[in-house]
Amino acid sequence: MAFPHDLGEEVQSLWTCTACVATVPGIVHGKPLRNCTKSEFMDEVLAQIRASEALDGMIRRANGGRGLEEFAILKAEVWDEWEFDPSGITPEQPKWVTTTNTRDHRPCQATSIPNLVLAGAHTETEADIWSIEGAVESGRRAAKIFEPEVVVKPQHKPLALKFTSWVDDAFFALRLPHVLSVIGALVGAGLAIGLYELIVRS
Ligand SMILES: Cc1cc2nc3c(=O)[nH]c(=O)nc-3n(C[C@H](O)[C@H](O)[C@H](O)COP(=O)(O)OP(=O)(O)OC[C@H]3O[C@@H](n4cnc5c(N)ncnc54)[C@H](O)[C@@H]3O)c2cc1C
Repeated sequence: MAFPHDLGEEVQSLWTCTACVATVPGIVHGKPLRNCTKSEFMDEVLAQIRASEALDGMIRRANGGRGLEEFAILKAEVWDEWEFDPSGITPEQPKWVTTTNTRDHRPCQATSIPNLVLAGAHTETEADIWSIEGAVESGRRAAKIFEPEVVVKPQHKPLALKFTSWVDDAFFALRLPHVLSVIGALVGAGLAIGLYELIVRS
């Protein structure tokens, strides 16, 4: 994959990645990521990147059929603020994530001080997630307070996502668990009832 800026000789791209599930034992050391040493963590992340068929497919499509194993990984780094300890990884500064628990504390871009606005992924946005998209949208919203002609692009949401977001918002307003947890619980209860009836009838 080509990168538009010069990252150095022979360097074609720079990636960042996030460990989404840090509590499940990994494929190399059999330990959850959060309990790995720094070198175990790196082994695990690189092995999981290399094992990803989806990523390999994406790289092949972008490089005329050449897959991930045909490119060298020149350098891999772990987020520099993390402290590794057998009891878990701790950051120097806790990472802000917009969750149901932090939602009520998110500030708007406009403040009570007329010439002070806030921008950043931690502010209230339609993107509704601590991300680069959220940061960009917040910047536009903040600029729009001073420059009304600034355009805040609406988030693209396919119909299915709009519907599930709407249901999830309703669940959130009622302080119910996440919509997927509720669907999972209903499916589980349905299966249990079905199984029970099957056993009772037979
Ligand atoms: C490891 C990691 C991986 C991520 N991966 C993704 C991803 O794949 N996709 C995605 O969309 N998002 C990702 N994110 C989240 C994304 O990076 C953030 O949501 C986004 O950068 C937030 O932008 P921001 O402008 O609000 O804040 P920041 O990018 O944090 O910018 C704040 C800036 O303010 C500076 N600053 C702080 N205090 C002061 C001060 N007193 N004076 C002057 N400057 C100061 C900081 O140095 C920093 O440069 C990731 C985050 C991390 C940590």
